[in-house]
Amino acid sequence: MESLALKPVVIHVPHEAQWGRDARDLANPSDGVGQLQNAPHFPVVMVGAGACGLTAALMLHDLGLECVLLERDATPQGSSALSSGFVPAAGTQCQARQGIVDSQAQFVQDILHKSHGQSAAHLVHAYVQAVPQAIDALESQHGIVWRVLDHFLYPGHSTHRMHAVPETSGEGLMARLVHAAQVADLTLLTSAHVTQLFIDPDRRVVGLGYARPDGSQEWVRCDAALLACNGFGGAPDLVAKYLPAMKDAVYAGHVGNDGSAMRWAQALGVANLDMGAYQGHGSWQNELGLLISWALMGQGGIQINQHGERFHDESQGYSEASVGVLAQPGCVAWCVFDESVHELGMGFPEFKEAVSLGGVKRFESVGELAQWVGCPKENLDRTLAAKSPAPGGLPAMSRPLVPALYAIKVTGALFHTQGGLDINAQCKVLARGEPLPNLWAAGGAARGVSGQEVWGYLSGNGLLSALAGGFIAAQSVAKALGRG
Ligand SMILES: Cc1cc2nc3c(=O)[nH]c(=O)nc-3n(C[C@H](O)[C@H](O)[C@H](O)COP(=O)(O)OP(=O)(O)OC[C@H]3O[C@@H](n4cnc5c(N)ncnc54)[C@H](O)[C@@H]3O)c2cc1C
Repeated sequence: MESLALKPVVIHVPHEAQWGRDARDLANPSDGVGQLQNAPHFPVVMVGAGACGLTAALMLHDLGLECVLLERDATPQGSSALSSGFVPAAGTQCQARQGIVDSQAQFVQDILHKSHGQSAAHLVHAYVQAVPQAIDALESQHGIVWRVLDHFLYPGHSTHRMHAVPETSGEGLMARLVHAAQVADLTLLTSAHVTQLFIDPDRRVVGLGYARPDGSQEWVRCDAALLACNGFGGAPDLVAKYLPAMKDAVYAGHVGNDGSAMRWAQALGVANLDMGAYQGHGSWQNELGLLISWALMGQGGIQINQHGERFHDESQGYSEASVGVLAQPGCVAWCVFDESVHELGMGFPEFKEAVSLGGVKRFESVGELAQWVGCPKENLDRTLAAKSPAPGGLPAMSRPLVPALYAIKVTGALFHTQGGLDINAQCKVLARGEPLPNLWAAGGAARGVSGQEVWGYLSGNGLLSALAGGFIAAQSVAKALGRG
């Protein structure tokens, strides 16, 4: 297994011409067929070592199955490491420890309510049931400890169910998953950019080819394959096609998520579903590259535009807020809040960083804030004094804001895409309704549970799909290979 040594190298980013070639390989896999016959064999191959791939690999390990994780980057990070790392779940041991009463039926209800019933119901039920099992297993089998964030409630969740590792960050979550993978001695092959799937006449994946940074190609054979390589946020052509509202928006996710899975799906005759759904965010500090938590809005913060006016209902989700912010002059807004909200913000690592880097400004008076924003003071006075109904028919501010005031300038951003491969409740890939023999997709590579629009995203739907999908796929693969 000499060729599978772990080598740190530069990331290889594909371009369109290569994709054309890959599609032909898939239809008529001549390149590499000879080499594939002599390639190393693993029962299971996974594409992508983000939260989904790592969870699936750890669960497969617990089920006694060997797999190899192929990861294009030198260090596994993905969007998971860029995220806040909050995973929603109902019925975990952690919730019980903290005395939080929740129910899976309520969680299902919350997801469906947010998407106005558009979410793929079979996945909502499967994920809600699986995610506490994944969280508990990661804790009991792999030492990943959790705590439920119980000092604020994200919009749309009926109770406290956001689980986080002690670092309260996606970086911390990924560091712990990678550490667990090392302890379990999993085969994690980095700097391996998968560019080919080899399919036999029965539409069985028999192997994969991956490019090395020096341009060389290597191959691996398998009995089962899992696509855990997330969505298409890093593919400008696909974003323009499926998410025109985000065409010119900042993409705050992992650039390596270039739609590999969706392009393979097309070549395989597999439908990509819910392609209009995504996680946007209306509070991205672009100059610093930091997420300013929407929890600030939940505790009384507001957003104003260049004119010093509110322009949307901040109690809605942060995802749809991205579109509202991008519609403002200059595509920017200012989050405005007071002392108590500032204190809450200091509990979030990225907010704290924004404060230390000077992004969050403090103002003793409304006039000073108006001057900084560059808006007429009387507009801001009117905005801050408004009682129900607020100008423009907006719901009133949840409470008055009293100086000292704080503000930070933000924009709307695309965080990750929620559309992807059609899968059944076992995360098996479906082609025209029929499962392919040995191909699974999970996490951001598969269709999500947010329906078809930006407003369907309930906070946490991303890592819910990643952890629950990884858990389910592992169980299903193990069963298919006689280990379940
Ligand atoms: C700023 C930000 C904050 C967020 N906060 C939250 C949050 O708090 N809660 C939540 O639920 N969601 C959040 N999300 C969304 C969340 O990050 C994603 O939904 C989740 O990380 C998806 O996990 P994944 O394992 O499917 O993908 P990823 O973590 O992106 O992993 C996919 C991996 O596949 C690799 N890859 C891609 N193509 C190939 C290829 N061809 N060959 C080999 N490897 C490949 C990539 O390099 C990557 O490492 C946030 C996203 C962002 C950007």
